[in-house]
Amino acid sequence: MGKALIIGAGGVASVAIHKCCQNPDVFEEICIASRTVAKCEALKKKLEGGRTKIQTAQVDANNVSELVALIRKFQPDIVINLALPYQDLTIMDACLETKVDYVDTANYEPEDTAKFEYKWQWAYRKRFEDAGITALLGSGFDPGVTGVFSAYAQKHYFDTIRQIDILDANAGDHGYAFATNFNPEINIREVSAKGSYYDNGRFIETDPMSIRRVYEFPEIGPKDIYLLHHEEMESLALNIRGIKKIRFWMTFSQSYLDHLRALEDVGMTSIEPIDFEGKKIVPLQFLKAVLPDPASLGPRTRGKTNIGCIFQGEKDGKPVTYYLYNVCDHQECYREVGSQAVSYTTGVPAMIGASMVLTGKWKVPGVHNIEEFDPDPFMAALNQFGLPWQESFAPELVK
Ligand code: NDP
Repeated sequence: MGKALIIGAGGVASVAIHKCCQNPDVFEEICIASRTVAKCEALKKKLEGGRTKIQTAQVDANNVSELVALIRKFQPDIVINLALPYQDLTIMDACLETKVDYVDTANYEPEDTAKFEYKWQWAYRKRFEDAGITALLGSGFDPGVTGVFSAYAQKHYFDTIRQIDILDANAGDHGYAFATNFNPEINIREVSAKGSYYDNGRFIETDPMSIRRVYEFPEIGPKDIYLLHHEEMESLALNIRGIKKIRFWMTFSQSYLDHLRALEDVGMTSIEPIDFEGKKIVPLQFLKAVLPDPASLGPRTRGKTNIGCIFQGEKDGKPVTYYLYNVCDHQECYREVGSQAVSYTTGVPAMIGASMVLTGKWKVPGVHNIEEFDPDPFMAALNQFGLPWQESFAPELVK
């Protein structure tokens, strides 16, 4: 069917690449390109020999002309951006210049401010339409599957969804006192930022980690959940008709929070550069360098994740509540692809989103969030590629 250029060779990319190789009818050929080419080579060595042909390349994704040269050389049908949010715009610029479709899993962030907003990428809409190419934004789990779940609930079970609570639980234990499950820099920027929720047409800001509840998760049990800002709320507020309230909740262990507070108190989570022995360093980037690499957590992590959405609204004048969620087991993921469940739950939807565009099911020129598309083929692919979903019509609600 087609050729995909995959940028990045970290935890999420590794899973997405395994999954592309499990779907060789769609992904006939891939090129794995990243800053450190040795990581691309290692993935190629592990996976070559199947029906998907694999090449590798070195690229600095901050550099548009390097990206354009690589795209011209490999001639992909789609670019799957699994590097960091900082590279979204340069990769989109290169796709525009070469007229190639684009998929990512996280919205653009400027390096100097932790801002989780779509405005920079939405500003590319007209240029992508005019070029006749598709950009699919946020095709991970959250954002990603949470938007597909929302579109599916809206399509099949509601006339109007009034409220969405997105719940992200990770009950995995990696045995370290403190480690993050995906890129530490991005993870800590996200959790130390102010929280927010959507209420009647506007976003209400909250102090970081100031709103806590306890939720009894299916297959996991009771967990502390904290209200966070999360990027998909911004697009869901626009794309789900009649929506009044959206909240995003994530679990954190007491040990994680205690360590984070101490690191914050001593300035280690700051993104302001400081002078150190005649050099400028960013404390959070230094911290990343001393923390365990999330890709190394796979063999150590035991337990499950449960990520999903609770919807409340009406159908035919009657109130409806509906919970859609996926449970993923860290060790099962590790046995299958050598990664823990947080990388797995992001890498699988990245491959599926790219396959939706490559097969033409979701090929609509412009820049789109995932809930704008027909959810049904994506929901079927989740069951096929390792993220089966479950549903309940009488869930416990988040008070
Ligand atoms: P990693 O840090 O493990 O991997 C990032 C990869 O990008 C590395 O291979 C890195 O190269 C490469 N990279 C970084 N900068 C550049 C550059 N300038 N040029 C080329 N390559 C570069 O991150 P993860 O795999 O954990 O996360 C990947 C993305 O997925 C992030 O954007 C993250 O926010 C997103 N994500 C989304 C989720 C969702 O549910 N939507 C959940 C989790 C993550 P090197 O090896 O040299 O460092």
